[in-house]
Amino acid sequence: MKILAVFAHPDDESFGPAGTLARYAQTGHKVGLFTLTRGEAGSVGISKTLTTEVLAGRRTCELHHAAKILGINYLKIADLPDKKLAELPDHTGMKMIQEELDFFKPDALITFHEQGISGHPDHQAVTRWLLELVKNQPKTISLFLYGVLQEQTEHMPRRRLLPMTLVEVTHRIVVSNYLDTKIEAIKAHATQEESWQRFINPLEKFKISAQWEYFKQVWPVPEKNILLHDEF
Ligand SMILES: [Zn+2]
Repeated sequence: MKILAVFAHPDDESFGPAGTLARYAQTGHKVGLFTLTRGEAGSVGISKTLTTEVLAGRRTCELHHAAKILGINYLKIADLPDKKLAELPDHTGMKMIQEELDFFKPDALITFHEQGISGHPDHQAVTRWLLELVKNQPKTISLFLYGVLQEQTEHMPRRRLLPMTLVEVTHRIVVSNYLDTKIEAIKAHATQEESWQRFINPLEKFKISAQWEYFKQVWPVPEKNILLHDEF
């Protein structure tokens, strides 16, 4: 199986469905990652003290490192303007993603839930582009939106995430064997330490809540959801 994750920023893959990406990459599947910006507008911790060019360079390196940790076989990083994706004409982002689809030919696509997890307009723009693009792809391609459940956010009271509801979930992927890998990938994003310290701590609570990763299949539109699938 070929899976392509498409995200706005370096670190979305690690804070997001990293367990699933690692699980598929490390069990013989081809896993690609297309990140649309270099994260130069990041504003946490040390990022505030760096110029945008230096920060973009560091975050690009961090993303390469995280992808290597996860076992991602193919990484492509574009240079669209961070924090401004929603202001771009839709065809700009969609054309770039279409080129990757033509090249990588994935069976499955992954990005964030429509709400964008953190509500970030960049995340929401990428989801909107993918929802539009899949309509014109071969019928065999699937689109899965990654989200978190309310209960997974409760140990992070200071980080407001927008959860999805259990009824939306079509796939619950067990990633307990890949949690240490996910944590290592998150930590690879050194410039984002202020964010991930809040995200993964207290560690024991994080490890309990992060054993499963939740997805909503939106394309092809699934039949009425009765069973939760544990693989794509
Ligand atoms: Zn992001």
